[in-house]
Amino acid sequence: MEISPCKPSRRALVWFRRDLRIADHPALARALREAQAVWCVFVLDKAILDGLPAEDRRVAFIRASLAELDERIAALSGGRARLLVRHAVAADELPRLAAELDVQAVYFHRDDDPAARARDARVYERLRADGREMHGFKDHVIFERREILTGGGTPYGVFTPYRNAWLKALHGRPQLLDDCGSDLDGTALAAAPASPWRGGAAVPALEEFGFHERAATPQDDAGLRPGSSGGEALLHEFLDRLDDYDEARDFPARPGPSHLGVHLRFGTLSLRRLVRLAAHRTEGGSRGAQTWLSELVWRDFYHQVLFHHPHVVGHAYRADCDAIPWEHGPQADAHFAAWCEGRTGYPLVDAGMRQLGASGYMHNRLRMITASFLTKDLGVSWQRGEAYFALKLNDFELASNNGGWQWAASTGCDAQPWFRIFNPVTQSERFDPQGAFIRRWVPELRLLGGKAIHAPWRAQPAELAAARVALGRDYPQPIVDHDVARAKTLARFGSRGSGSPVVEGTSKPG
Ligand SMILES: Cc1cc2nc3c(=O)[nH]c(=O)nc-3n(C[C@H](O)[C@H](O)[C@H](O)COP(=O)(O)OP(=O)(O)OC[C@H]3O[C@@H](n4cnc5c(N)ncnc54)[C@H](O)[C@@H]3O)c2cc1C
Repeated sequence: MEISPCKPSRRALVWFRRDLRIADHPALARALREAQAVWCVFVLDKAILDGLPAEDRRVAFIRASLAELDERIAALSGGRARLLVRHAVAADELPRLAAELDVQAVYFHRDDDPAARARDARVYERLRADGREMHGFKDHVIFERREILTGGGTPYGVFTPYRNAWLKALHGRPQLLDDCGSDLDGTALAAAPASPWRGGAAVPALEEFGFHERAATPQDDAGLRPGSSGGEALLHEFLDRLDDYDEARDFPARPGPSHLGVHLRFGTLSLRRLVRLAAHRTEGGSRGAQTWLSELVWRDFYHQVLFHHPHVVGHAYRADCDAIPWEHGPQADAHFAAWCEGRTGYPLVDAGMRQLGASGYMHNRLRMITASFLTKDLGVSWQRGEAYFALKLNDFELASNNGGWQWAASTGCDAQPWFRIFNPVTQSERFDPQGAFIRRWVPELRLLGGKAIHAPWRAQPAELAAARVALGRDYPQPIVDHDVARAKTLARFGSRGSGSPVVEGTSKPG
């Protein structure tokens, strides 16, 4: 092990947050190289958890991933070290624990979500006041903050030139993708203080910090396998179909996308590893890999949008769009509830919303369709939809969720032009042509055939009777008429501030 010669007795704490793995973990790798005694901690942060429902799938995912992380830390240290897990307000607990262990430095990965930055700034001040250091590393994205700027030194507002600059920068610095953990030496991992949890376990049961497991249903997301081992299994399976990704990804009934979003969200897989794999297969001529790599670049893109324009949290990226007069009042509330529950009367919209509610996953094409439907067919503000997705999505990331919503609502950076409004029936005919996805998630329509599955209200009475569907009883009548809603939306957007139809770009994410 290489130990910094000038600091022979250095003690360090590695603060795990959304990086729940030991492989290719820059902060851990550096701490193990630079210190003689290293502890690893994860704080179940009351500031975040207190606002979540007791059966939140993501909390169960985190807990199971922590249990695996603990096992791997124990194995790396030859059984000596364990993961420290605390349930507290992280901004208070970190400085407290650093003092208890008397470490000289805390190692962590930067997180540019505004709330995380505020928390980290508080921790930094407290540590500094105690004479301790804080070392932040990049992990969550490939290029962060001001690393990719236009020739004029400004952030990119349009995706395609951003992607080109991103690819060029990576070409010039391929070492950015190097695996920093290939020679990980756990000798410095130190024995943990006594665990506060039942039976001395390193990781508490969900109940010990106010949560509980939800009963598994057949509809749970098959991709929600926790830990690095879960991510590895999923990746292994996905790599077999990566070459077809560009063809298959738009059809929700097909196994197109990777379902790896949740592993990127919680860092159970290394983003650098995924980019390395995608870039390698792209060089080999795989169009599927090229498209998938592009999706990973979208993720970086939205992170830099959030970093440079933090006002997007709560506000439209385009200032004039804050003036859009969204619908309010009892009818808007009733429409919003119908949308959340998957009973709008538009089968593919309902299928997507039910998939989200039942599994915590929603296919990208359906995220675009359902978000467009809420904002442009129901006239309900994107902020309400964004908040609902944030509560439900296993892979919820503030930057991508906000970017996706503002794209669909045409209020965002490089968004869908406001006058381009998805027709939910045409989208359904195009992307679920046989209605297989609808039949899975809206079983009351499963006997409907042909085009009727996409728009049951257009079916002949005999057709509905044969399929045992009475509209209004077994399945709702459409809650709005798309053509009427479309006209209202055009007027709504036309009436805002400048009324300008100018768009910065028209790239299509996903
Ligand atoms: C309204 C709306 C809300 C969204 N909310 C989120 C969110 O909270 N978290 C999230 O990770 N993605 C979000 N997306 C983007 C995208 O839908 C998901 O990343 C993708 O569906 C996740 O499934 P997957 O892992 O199977 O994706 P794959 O198709 O396998 O893509 C691989 C990875 O690339 C990234 N990615 C793919 N598409 C996008 C995109 N358009 N923008 C940013 N990153 C992308 C994700 O990290 C994803 O896991 C949203 C999109 C929309 C339209």
